[in-house]
Amino acid sequence: MENVIVLATGNRHKYVELRQVLGNLPLTLRGLADFSPVPEAVEDGATFDENAYKKAHHYAQAFNVPCLADDTGLAVDALGGQPGVHSARYAGPAATDRANCERLLRELADVDCRAARFVCVLTLAVPNGASLSWEGRCEGEIITEWRGEHGFGYDPLFLIPQLNKTLAEIPLAEKEAYSHRGRALAQFMGEFDRVREWLQRQVAIHPAP
Ligand code: IMP
Repeated sequence: MENVIVLATGNRHKYVELRQVLGNLPLTLRGLADFSPVPEAVEDGATFDENAYKKAHHYAQAFNVPCLADDTGLAVDALGGQPGVHSARYAGPAATDRANCERLLRELADVDCRAARFVCVLTLAVPNGASLSWEGRCEGEIITEWRGEHGFGYDPLFLIPQLNKTLAEIPLAEKEAYSHRGRALAQFMGEFDRVREWLQRQVAIHPAP
């Protein structure tokens, strides 16, 4: 049986990352652009898990197709784990990546301990509300100035100490070997047979109308 999964993200960088890793699996991958537009999911959860589920389930219900979504954030030790679930809106409701990075640099201007991690929760939800999740983390440090042209979001400020490179200084294929999203995706791939069986069971229990 063919398994269709929608990569439920409006962020084209994330879409490319997800597609690059999942593209070789026996899955038919779709994007939001393959469906009529629906309102965006409301990301008002208190945790990455809640928000990843909200996104995946929102689109799974809207399109009546299994949807995979991720919620990611940057947790900085010296800021008590902030910006965390507020990472996208750190510099304001419609903040750009640049504005978020600038605020982060301002907040850390006088801070020596710059340890931080990206946390990514990847959730696969089906229209009936059932879901599976995986979490990936990437440990690093916030540097004091932009480095690198690849990636997006906070990547140019996020140093991987063992490489002495930011996530924006390594090409996409390599980013997935170290990144939070790459690690969550690696778990998904490692369990793919179970995921496929689960999906087929869900569709059998709740067939599409
Ligand atoms: P969301 O998961 O789309 O809500 O993203 C939260 C925030 O984290 C946004 O500001 C993104 O730009 C940023 N972000 C998400 N994934 C990454 C990543 O892989 N690298 C750097 N920043 C990211």
